[in-house]
Amino acid sequence: MSANAPRYPLVLVPGLLGFIRQLGYPYWYGIVSALRRHGATVFPVLVSSVNSSEVRGEQLLERIAEVRQQTGAAKVHLIGHSQGSLTARYAAAMRPEWVASVTSVAGPNQGSELADYLQGKAPHGSLRERLLAMVLRGIARCMALLETGYKGSRLPMDVAAAQQSLTSAGVAAFNAKYPQGLPATWGGEGAEEVAGVRYYSWSGTLQPGITDQGGNRFDGPNRACRIFARTFVREAGHCDGMVGRYSSHLGKVIGDSYPLDHFDIVNQTFGLVGKGADPVKLFVEHAQRLHAAGL
Ligand code: CA
Repeated sequence: MSANAPRYPLVLVPGLLGFIRQLGYPYWYGIVSALRRHGATVFPVLVSSVNSSEVRGEQLLERIAEVRQQTGAAKVHLIGHSQGSLTARYAAAMRPEWVASVTSVAGPNQGSELADYLQGKAPHGSLRERLLAMVLRGIARCMALLETGYKGSRLPMDVAAAQQSLTSAGVAAFNAKYPQGLPATWGGEGAEEVAGVRYYSWSGTLQPGITDQGGNRFDGPNRACRIFARTFVREAGHCDGMVGRYSSHLGKVIGDSYPLDHFDIVNQTFGLVGKGADPVKLFVEHAQRLHAAGL
């Protein structure tokens, strides 16, 4: 461990359709290696790629137990991307004594308007819903076959539970049970510390002329984000394509309008991001922030 690295290990929790490595290709592209170069102990973990935040959170508690045992550390830092944020929040709510901090990176902490839109277009019991679920299950099964970074047992899949876990109504129900770190007012900041756990968040927004330039001119997921952004109503013009700026707020808001789409924020794909953006730096700076907080 280097002099300004966090004292506790960093556990990185992926979002929906998350993975550790697909045929060697990492989810946290260039991020794990950068954090390690700065002396941090880092564990990118896997939980069900498609499931509820509670089921994923229970699996995360098992991963945390393994990391604690392996490293001898009393606590871990949880950094979740997208649904990984809700997953981390659940684990911290259940075992705060195991968690030094929860950091939400583009987390739908008040739900995703894209999920709301999809639920409206493919309501419960409809043919569209069944087709959508079939496609999602197919993708998740293929991804499980290509996963090369995970050696644990097969993880359960539940498409309906995953969708419910991402809509505004579904997240509101989740928030009523696990409110730790949430802002009291829309667009505000949350408590920086609850039950001994620090809470932080950062997120980006699509910014025409910036996020669609640079490497993103050649990046499919950026195009997808621009299309998805059209489904936003409440946060129209202030989203990263999948999550709204204010919906992402949790605890201390480090920043909520970095010029990064929902995939850029984890340096996807292959580091292709908008003009002048540096998503990896945000992770390295955060590790230094945790160290400075004595954690
Ligand atoms: Ca990109």
